[in-house]
Amino acid sequence: MASRSLSRLLSLRPAIQNVSRATYGQQATLQSQQVPDWTGQEILSEVDPEILSLIREEKQRQVRGLELIASENFCPQASLNVLSSCLHNKYSEGLPGNRYYGGTEVIDKVERLCQKRALEAFDLDPEKWGVNVQPYSGSPANLAVYTGLLAPHDRIMGLDLPHGGHLTHGFMTDTTRISATSIFFESMPYRLDIKTGLVDYDKLEETSRLFRPRLIISGYSAYPRRLDYKRFREICDGVKAIMMSDMAHISGLVAAKILPSPFDHSDIVTTTTHKTLRGPRSGLIFFRRGKKGVSKKTGKDIMYDYEKRINHAVFPALQGGPHNNNIGGVAVALKQTMTPAFKEYQRQTVLNAKTMAQALLAKGYSLVSGGTENHLVLVDLHSKGVDGAQAEHILELCAISVNKNTCPGDKSALHPSGLRLGSPALTSRNFKEGDFLQVIDFIDRSIAIGQEAKKISGANNKVYYEVVETNKEFLKKIAKLRLEVEDFAAQFPMPGYDNF
Ligand SMILES: *Cc1c(COP(=O)(O)O)cnc(C)c1O
Repeated sequence: MASRSLSRLLSLRPAIQNVSRATYGQQATLQSQQVPDWTGQEILSEVDPEILSLIREEKQRQVRGLELIASENFCPQASLNVLSSCLHNKYSEGLPGNRYYGGTEVIDKVERLCQKRALEAFDLDPEKWGVNVQPYSGSPANLAVYTGLLAPHDRIMGLDLPHGGHLTHGFMTDTTRISATSIFFESMPYRLDIKTGLVDYDKLEETSRLFRPRLIISGYSAYPRRLDYKRFREICDGVKAIMMSDMAHISGLVAAKILPSPFDHSDIVTTTTHKTLRGPRSGLIFFRRGKKGVSKKTGKDIMYDYEKRINHAVFPALQGGPHNNNIGGVAVALKQTMTPAFKEYQRQTVLNAKTMAQALLAKGYSLVSGGTENHLVLVDLHSKGVDGAQAEHILELCAISVNKNTCPGDKSALHPSGLRLGSPALTSRNFKEGDFLQVIDFIDRSIAIGQEAKKISGANNKVYYEVVETNKEFLKKIAKLRLEVEDFAAQFPMPGYDNF
């Protein structure tokens, strides 16, 4: 029965029959014999061998290197498939069911599915929470929240960038407003307690009473500890500020219920989708909806008014057409977050970060806050005689990717004294605790080479870089270690396409 109705459908629509019979590859060859060049049927190796070879070069770098940048991950193949699909082609300004373009009936289903899964992934009741899945990435998501909920020059408080916050939380220097958040709004940072390396909540509370922000952000890019969301809520309530949580770094850990959920206390939650959540690059904004409370004066219900304002800020205020291939890819990633395997992945991610922390402490390194409760560690290199920039550089020469990071108390952002190391990417390659012990050993040996170079160069930075980049003896040492690192890394599986 089913097959008879299918064949009837196919006989009515011969074009569909063709597509379903041919694989994408076969179809491309078939059609390229029939159509001129300008119809876009050519394959990459014919059109642009230069870019193809750069992709292959980058693939080798990823496969043979140790990726420890805490914000990075390897997007699974299923999401990559969607990224390079025809969903990419469609314009669909507006929201599902209410678009400015025709032909969106399928795209509407994709976006609705993504919204539904986003709420499910974080156990949210659709009566109480809504989500916008269109932000192009984490930074546009944050700017959309400020645009929708604040007036120009309203006040915002976020964790200071040198203390682990993100640019979009409002970074400025003595002379320059760096982030658009501090160009269009007035930003006041809060900071860590330098002694403990933990957020200084008391100081935040005190400053908030003086500054009276309209919005306070709880969230970070470089902080190895849990946040006290309840305390943030109390501080926000004390000055009637909106509480926004930016869980960009930790949304995978939150979905897996390994870290406490910011949703219990926040009004707004934003996230990227490509860090621990392990999807394609994109952004999400969750907002409370429905009843907020009851008016004491009138006895009437007070409703949240975030939904319209945030949706309007994303489009038409800030963005144009949604990137539907990303939205489809995010839907796939969100589905994967609800599997036992994903929970296992996140559990291993934290275990691996803790393993790195212990191994570093055992080798005499100091860590900001003394350890980790999430996917990253912040190494304080003060006692090691090399700074973060020098360490990042020597590690890069040895095929190990990390990033330099300011430690609380650092004066210079160009020569900070810290390194940020994250476990999400290598955990996606099935690295276990023992493998991370090996990784820390490689890092320690690389830094030891930097320390030796420092003995020759002294405090002269220029001479230091000359030594590690041109001194024959050092070049030999580095090349040997690099080969060891690359042979080690290349043994592990790599998500994504094999043919690149
Ligand atoms: C990474 C990050 C963002 C921004 O994400 P992009 O996708 O790079 O724009 C925002 N907030 C925090 C806390 C982040 O760590």
